[in-house]
Amino acid sequence: MLQQTQVKTVIPYFNNFTRKFKTLNALSKSNEKEILKMWEGLGYYRRARNLLACSKLLVKNHKSRLPQSIKEIKKLPGVGDYTANALLGLVYNEPRIALDGNVKRVFSRILNIKEKKIDFDKFIEKNKKQLFITKRNDDFVEALMEFGAITCKPKNPNCITCCLNKTCKYFKSSNKIKNVKNKMTKNKNYDIFCYINKKKQIALTKNNRISFLKDFNIPEIKETNNVTYNQNWIFLKNYKNSISNLKLNINLYYKFSKKIPRTFNWFSLKENKEFIPSFTKRIFKQVSTLF
Ligand code: SF4
Repeated sequence: MLQQTQVKTVIPYFNNFTRKFKTLNALSKSNEKEILKMWEGLGYYRRARNLLACSKLLVKNHKSRLPQSIKEIKKLPGVGDYTANALLGLVYNEPRIALDGNVKRVFSRILNIKEKKIDFDKFIEKNKKQLFITKRNDDFVEALMEFGAITCKPKNPNCITCCLNKTCKYFKSSNKIKNVKNKMTKNKNYDIFCYINKKKQIALTKNNRISFLKDFNIPEIKETNNVTYNQNWIFLKNYKNSISNLKLNINLYYKFSKKIPRTFNWFSLKENKEFIPSFTKRIFKQVSTLF
């Protein structure tokens, strides 16, 4: 839940989730519909799907235990190098470092070398005797990430009070390293077409070609190169939306209609049993202003 999401946002979701699923076995018996409903509003829904798939695999193939080999852990859905190292360090106290953006920045500053010029795996391997000096590897994994988030922050690091400032080359150097953004922001234009009816319903479909909304209920959507206005529909609003590293410029259109295309279903603008992603809920809000 914490990947790409702030702690304060996650807390109520985490509490609900762990209250509902007290064990791995309980989670493995759930289904995608239920999990997505509990995840509603948290975003990055692939995490929820992967978590459910992981629980099912662990129960089925690993006697409800996390495997101890990195090769086996990385076979779990959604688990890459970062998560595998974090799990082995935190769960099994192995000498591992979970290389997230915070940790990379800390190393980059201490060495005063730009992140993209560091081979982090080689660096860790070469310096493992100096890095893993205690038996508390689980604390070390966590502490490094926290250090990057709290002290060696992206902007205005607390160098004056930092316990590493005597050795940190960044602090000593007058040349500041510019943070290398690991994601480039992309701008995209979309036209969204909403069929609505007098019962305050909107037609949604899961049948769309937009990769970041795949399998989610959304209205008809088309990516456009330019800002366009479509004459067959009534223009409602232009607004901006952000999803991950995408900045979306959206033109919203509507028309009242009794007929809808074959793959569409009617949904209430107020309350639905089925999972509705935040992207679509924002559209609901705009369309509701018509009633
Ligand atoms: S001295 Fe400053 S830049 Fe260096 S590790 Fe500490 S907080 Fe980061």
